[in-house]
Amino acid sequence: MKKTEVLIVGQGLAGTLLSHELNKLQINHLVISNQQLGASHIAAGMYNPLVFKRLTKSWMVDELLPVMQQTYREFEKLLHFDLLHPIPIAKVIPVEQKSWWLERINSQQLYDYFDQFISSAEIPGLAENLTLARIKNSGYINLLKLLQHYRLYLEKRNQFIVDDFNYNALELKNGAVFYKNMQAQKIVFCEGAASQNNPWLPEGIFYPAKGDVLDVFIETLDTKYIINKDIFILPKGKHHFVLGSTYIHQFSDAIPDPENAQMLIQKAQNLVKSPIRLLKHQAGVRPTVKDRRPVLGFNQQISAIAFFNGLGTKGVMTGPYFAKLMAKALSTGFTPIDAEVSISRFYK
Ligand SMILES: Cc1cc2nc3c(=O)[nH]c(=O)nc-3n(C[C@H](O)[C@H](O)[C@H](O)COP(=O)(O)OP(=O)(O)OC[C@H]3O[C@@H](n4cnc5c(N)ncnc54)[C@H](O)[C@@H]3O)c2cc1C
Repeated sequence: MKKTEVLIVGQGLAGTLLSHELNKLQINHLVISNQQLGASHIAAGMYNPLVFKRLTKSWMVDELLPVMQQTYREFEKLLHFDLLHPIPIAKVIPVEQKSWWLERINSQQLYDYFDQFISSAEIPGLAENLTLARIKNSGYINLLKLLQHYRLYLEKRNQFIVDDFNYNALELKNGAVFYKNMQAQKIVFCEGAASQNNPWLPEGIFYPAKGDVLDVFIETLDTKYIINKDIFILPKGKHHFVLGSTYIHQFSDAIPDPENAQMLIQKAQNLVKSPIRLLKHQAGVRPTVKDRRPVLGFNQQISAIAFFNGLGTKGVMTGPYFAKLMAKALSTGFTPIDAEVSISRFYK
């Protein structure tokens, strides 16, 4: 029997961040994950400090960003590759909205995040006569590489188990959890959207959103900005870009839909001068929650069962901060979890 303090189920962004925080606290744990691709494997990995629709700061951004930066820099040191790529967003806006933007920047105190207005003439290959707002303290992380490298790291430390977790095989005895040949004090489920099958989660948490994302080639576009206008165009070097993404709540499967790819390409084509060539099309399901907040904490009846999920909205930015909180709650057992993100909000 393999004894450990914590079992983590699922090695997407949530499981990876939580495992890292537990390692920092020197809490023994094992990570169980299957071979399927989760949302984190295909996500663009961007972080944006603003909500463009209302032009406000993103929820808790002043607290989340420093923790996010520090955490991803820790992974860079641990795994020896460039993970965090801070680059500005260039948000296309109607020229007549400029004064509204200036008014919001003042009233919402957005000075740390808004830089200046620029014109499309500054970005070779972008359509002419566009007005753009340059956003700072934005960027992206190389999420797929993080998952791959962190998995290798766990494997070297004998902390990783490939397994499609079978809920029926979990046993609870004397406050401990038993799964196959493993025994732990706690189990934390981090299965992303797949957690809809989890019998210990309260019902009605998720409002999942399917997303399509494309790798494309745009010959004449040469930008160091993430271009944003309903869709985003994220530069990956040598005229390769990630183009995304759809946000679909009514769906029957997570298979890439060619119609969605065409829709994304059409929207992006209006923004650039040369034809867009599709290289790759992927789709996944975001574990989005109706109130768009993470979900963490313990099962109301069984305190050995815990959850860290709900990173479907801005997970790259929110994940590191709340993984820290979850790890602390696991280590002390009494760290209070704010009602806004606690799973207790779903127990009636
Ligand atoms: C197209 C798209 C673009 C996105 N872009 C961004 C973005 O730019 N910025 C941003 O912040 N967020 C973005 N997101 C959202 C965000 O990346 C994800 O929601 C977040 O990464 C979810 O992480 P997770 O670990 O909770 O879930 P997942 O990434 O789904 O990971 C769960 C893992 O658990 C495994 N698993 C599940 N069930 C079991 C089981 N029974 N047994 C064993 N293993 C299991 C899965 O295989 C998976 O590897 C995007 C999402 C999509 C779909």
